Amino acid sequence: MKKLLALLLWIVSFSLSAQAIVSVTGTIPSSQLGVSLEHEHLLVDFIGAEKYSRSHWNELEAFNKILPYLIEAKKAGVLTFFDCTPNYLGRDAKLLLRLSQASKVNIVTNTGLYGGSDNKYLPSFVFTESAEELSQRWIAEFEKGIDGTSVKPGFIKTSVNPGTLTEVSKKLIVAAAITHKATGLTIASHTGPAIAALEQLEILKQQGVRPDAFIWVHSQNEKQTQIFIDAARFGSWVSLDGVNEENISWYVEVLTLLKKENLLNHVLISHDAGWFDPAKPNGGTFRPFTTIFQKLVPALIAAGFTQKEIDQLLITNPAAAYALAVRTY
Ligand SMILES: [Zn+2]
Repeated sequence: MKKLLALLLWIVSFSLSAQAIVSVTGTIPSSQLGVSLEHEHLLVDFIGAEKYSRSHWNELEAFNKILPYLIEAKKAGVLTFFDCTPNYLGRDAKLLLRLSQASKVNIVTNTGLYGGSDNKYLPSFVFTESAEELSQRWIAEFEKGIDGTSVKPGFIKTSVNPGTLTEVSKKLIVAAAITHKATGLTIASHTGPAIAALEQLEILKQQGVRPDAFIWVHSQNEKQTQIFIDAARFGSWVSLDGVNEENISWYVEVLTLLKKENLLNHVLISHDAGWFDPAKPNGGTFRPFTTIFQKLVPALIAAGFTQKEIDQLLITNPAAAYALAVRTY
């Protein structure tokens, strides 16, 4: 009996330690992620899909502007950085690889397409192709690399319109579900208020994908905090990713509420900060990635959070949420 138990424990610990994420430099064990910022941006180009071109920014200029902010985050303890800029909004695999190598921060990039902002960032093929065809493009990036590089995506980033889902938004989330089932990549969907999150979770269920494969991005834009509890209980990841100097007390209040409900294990926090904007001189004003460490963590500790709970938010949860694993019913 004891031997059987030991064997079971070994199997469980092996399968946990075997979890991995895909960074721009390759696959790394989830146990090595360390402190992670799970939703940030290094470069964002708002020009729109119609005029979009990676020649719109100078790689060296962007590199020189961005690198000090990554190094500053590293000094604050960050080992892993999830870059949530999707294709057609400034995702630049070559630049991300270079920044990761120079800063020694793990950077994770994404596949998928951004359907918010009245479809401004969707290339025209999205409107004619099926969900299956779109997913083939994303699966190909996972298998072969992005834009002719060796860089592979570590998650699916999509976005839907707020409110009830349009047909295009529905197609994107079905494509994300197909891609998830083929690759095990987690789906992070820029969503905002709850109505679109709940509709996406319903589509995923129809597709056989479990809610723990879904990150409800920008959930802080939903003002009914009870819905965070409902979504977390359902099994979804609730990403409160807009930490800034002005909203620390709101974060302390909401995280305390989720802690009381024993749901901290479904919550992610980040700044949604950055970024180099090619339309502005020298990339414009860059918001640093350090407010969580300088303001929020001390405020949480003052409110009675333990180091273990802080680590849950910044280490354990991002590693679990973004682990490469097919999560189906
Ligand atoms: Zn974002």
